[in-house]
Amino acid sequence: MNEAIERVVIVGGGTAGWLTAARLASSPRAMAGRLSVTLIEAPDIPTIGVGEGSWPTMRATLAAIGIGESEFLAACDASFKQGSRFDGWVTGAADDRYLHPFTAPPAAPTAELLAAWRSGAPDLSFAAAMTPQAHVCDLDLAPRQRTMPDYQGAANYAYHLDAGKFAALLARHAVQKLGVRHIPDHVTAVGPDGAGGIASVATRQNGAIEGDLFIDCTGHASLLIGGHLGVEWVDRGDTLFNDRALAAQVPVVPGGPIASQTISTAHEAGWIWDIGLPDRRGIGCVYASRFMEDETAEAVLRAYIARVLPGAPEVPARRLSFPTGHRARFWEGNCIAIGLSAGFIEPLEASAIVMIELSVDALIDNFPASRAALPIHAARFNELFGYRWDRIVEFLKLHYVLSRRAEPYWLAQREAAHVPPRLAEMLALWRDQPPSAWDFPRVDEIFSAESHQYILYGMGFPVPADLPPCERAAGLLADNHRRARSLAAALPANRDYLDAQRPGAPATAAF
Ligand SMILES: Cc1cc2nc3c(=O)[nH]c(=O)nc-3n(C[C@H](O)[C@H](O)[C@H](O)COP(=O)(O)OP(=O)(O)OC[C@H]3O[C@@H](n4cnc5c(N)ncnc54)[C@H](O)[C@@H]3O)c2cc1C
Repeated sequence: MNEAIERVVIVGGGTAGWLTAARLASSPRAMAGRLSVTLIEAPDIPTIGVGEGSWPTMRATLAAIGIGESEFLAACDASFKQGSRFDGWVTGAADDRYLHPFTAPPAAPTAELLAAWRSGAPDLSFAAAMTPQAHVCDLDLAPRQRTMPDYQGAANYAYHLDAGKFAALLARHAVQKLGVRHIPDHVTAVGPDGAGGIASVATRQNGAIEGDLFIDCTGHASLLIGGHLGVEWVDRGDTLFNDRALAAQVPVVPGGPIASQTISTAHEAGWIWDIGLPDRRGIGCVYASRFMEDETAEAVLRAYIARVLPGAPEVPARRLSFPTGHRARFWEGNCIAIGLSAGFIEPLEASAIVMIELSVDALIDNFPASRAALPIHAARFNELFGYRWDRIVEFLKLHYVLSRRAEPYWLAQREAAHVPPRLAEMLALWRDQPPSAWDFPRVDEIFSAESHQYILYGMGFPVPADLPPCERAAGLLADNHRRARSLAAALPANRDYLDAQRPGAPATAAF
């Protein structure tokens, strides 16, 4: 093996593999000719094929890779995502609904904003008081006008996308524009380097492929970091119970509205995702096999589709089982796990693709120039991503512990034995003071203090007592109200924006 780290070999060609390849190949180090990127993917092992909701980080990722926004939207049948709406999570009643928007509340002390909300706009939801984005979402509007520069918007936003088309776009771009070497082949064995690391991977038809740094993007197979290096799995299923999903793709009437947010609807033992793309809705039922039979989950899914898309054709639903947890370490020797090989915690709040992006960002910013630096980088990376998995687990769990639903699944979610101690401590603290950057002090926190505020106060968590009245905060909320009206007049509907993006795009079979 070379002393310098110059040859990166990625195994796996799903969203994780191709995003990693494209980001690394467009990094300054690769552009300067100091890094080559090879991606090996088994043509006979399909990608997971789901993963339709992203995070606002995706805009910077696509810009860094050099893909234009219009090209991306058209190639991936993508739409805008401005947050997540949660229906039925608190009580299950018909009017039980709240929004977690991507745009943060105004820049002012949260205690003052809460006081202004409580005294000045108690009839508005927390999200509607804090950001005009709530109104934009209610009206199914796009977050930007077509004339704006790529990746800029009037509100913070991410995307919903077709996962298969996204991986295909990234692959084309990475190979044709960024010089990634693509080897469609099956990795059959790993060649050790004699020092606890990897020297090469053996393939069926292309022999041994050598490298200096190996990225495991083999999905749940976790071929390198789990299979070869034996890094143990940390199970988090005792905190977050969901371990199955049924995924369906339902064609929609051409010209109909496209929602601006992922709609997450709670059911007796899990929840349903509903993601609007221009030609179809991706709808899936997430559930805990301990609490719900597969047949019941299918009936729950079908009933939801019949309710929201009456008359829709019956489409097949694909069943997926997933472990809940992550590796104990994500960087071992000269191997880094990115994507499902590193871990997966159910799809609520779409934390998986953003973890891929953050992993590659961390790698690019802290690239090991030489083999000698590997242990230092590995320790730092493992500490950082251990922290991030813990925060994801706690943030997702927050959605369950604040529920007041009474089915056995929901009652079990709130049992103290299934609540992480740090989350229990934070909930006690947040009764006295709202979540703040003191609670989430790291660079690039996935779920900021503001995200926690949207969940807490959206779900009816008590605001701290004796908040000081504040005229300035009241003025900021009044500004929000005015801005909501002006954005409603200025922004195009999602449907109009996206259809203009895809001239002549044929409508899929529709009902
Ligand atoms: C039900 C569900 C819903 C989800 N929804 C979301 C969401 O809304 N938002 C989000 O961010 N994430 C979501 N995710 C997660 C998301 O799908 C994944 O994080 C993302 O697709 C990345 O997957 P991957 O590339 O790691 O693995 P995969 O897509 O499984 O790719 C694995 C790759 O490894 C290759 N491979 C395997 N073995 C070998 C071998 N021996 N030799 C060579 N190649 C090999 C395969 O050919 C394939 O190319 C969801 C996941 C599930 C289960």
